[in-house]
Amino acid sequence: MNLTQLLDAFPHPVGPLRILIVDDQPVNIRVLHQVFRGEFEVLMATDGEQAMTVCREQRPDIILLDVVMPGISGHEVCRRLKADPGTRDIPVIFVTSQNQDGDEALGFEIGAVDFITKPVNPVIVSARVRTHLALKLQSDLLRSFAMIDGLTKVANRRKFDEELAISWRACQREGHPLSLVLLDLDSFKQYNDTYGHQQGDACLVAVAGVLTQTVRRPHDLVARYGGEEFVCILPETDSLGAIQRAEAMRAAVKALEIKHQDSAAGPLVSISLGVATQIPGADSSPEALLAAADAQLYQAKAAGRDRVSAIELS
Ligand SMILES: [Mg+2]
Repeated sequence: MNLTQLLDAFPHPVGPLRILIVDDQPVNIRVLHQVFRGEFEVLMATDGEQAMTVCREQRPDIILLDVVMPGISGHEVCRRLKADPGTRDIPVIFVTSQNQDGDEALGFEIGAVDFITKPVNPVIVSARVRTHLALKLQSDLLRSFAMIDGLTKVANRRKFDEELAISWRACQREGHPLSLVLLDLDSFKQYNDTYGHQQGDACLVAVAGVLTQTVRRPHDLVARYGGEEFVCILPETDSLGAIQRAEAMRAAVKALEIKHQDSAAGPLVSISLGVATQIPGADSSPEALLAAADAQLYQAKAAGRDRVSAIELS
């Protein structure tokens, strides 16, 4: 598949592809910018530190990385990007002026996908970038299918684990609070017993749909955690904000008005929610935050279901 066909194959529309050009010489950036500006969104950085910030914050689709730069070298930038789960899947192409075999071998060893030598030939650099972007999109596409819950089409547990690690690191770096909302459908076993499993599946799909509509900032995530359990990651969200979002989810599920004659919580399908919030620190862990949300969910159930229970960890 070529790049255009791949872009069409994605389940969700992909914005313009973004290429990051890193070089300490503005004239080199200008040359590459000329090659790509019509086709892609071009991001630029003139040193390694800046390059890593752009990668973390904007997640470009591919990087053209100068090897020799003052400060952090291109090789070191690549090593660090490959060590971070948030950036390790971005393909790196080294742009090198000296054609030394040893350098190339090292570059591949630390995770580069290709090399381009300066002075760059626009036709060659463009062809190589398109090839690697196509490969990257193919693997993104495969991964996205492997990360989706088959029934509800929200993220699955695997995707949740991956995103939680990424959000945790990001909030830790910035000193921002991270909130988790763990929720499940009230008396869902009885729902299946009364209405049958097909109806039960339809109910899960409907609930997943309203959760997706409620939780929609770019870095938020809704995932199916298990049977009738869902979990939401809300980065940069304090306790109050998370409680408000949880209440909005609860109201949205009630507003579906799905009848449930055997629910312990009332005549309609409802959810109970546990919220836990923390500014990630060195002596805390995402697992402990999730356990805290789980304990709050248990509290919400014990207090009568169809409600939100929340805790803020220090
Ligand atoms: Mg240089």
